[in-house]
Amino acid sequence: MPRRRPPPPDEGRTVRAGCGHLAGVTARPAPDGGCEECLAIGGSWLHLRFCYECDRKLCCDGSPNRHARRHALEAGHPVACSAERGESWAWCYQDETILEPIPPSLN
Ligand SMILES: [Zn+2]
Ligand SMILES: [Zn+2]
Ligand SMILES: [Zn+2]
Repeated sequence: MPRRRPPPPDEGRTVRAGCGHLAGVTARPAPDGGCEECLAIGGSWLHLRFCYECDRKLCCDGSPNRHARRHALEAGHPVACSAERGESWAWCYQDETILEPIPPSLN
């Protein structure tokens, strides 16, 4: 296995020791549309997140149904990224840890 250079001790990024989920997360475009689950049940949402693992677009903890949190715990996909325009951060629901800003993809 090739050795990777350790990441620089950047400003702004908060990754708690013990959270391995946010390591290696890079920026990617948010999928289109609203919260899939809310659209299916006729619900409403406040802000949108998307699952880093499977790209499902779901609603935040400030929304009545908290679909992003539910999905993270039920599917075992702990990392969700903000789908709000102009925001660049990822959240680990398991470790309650934020990565901000999300580093750009290298390729
Ligand atoms: Zn984590
Ligand atoms: Zn929702
Ligand atoms: Zn997922």
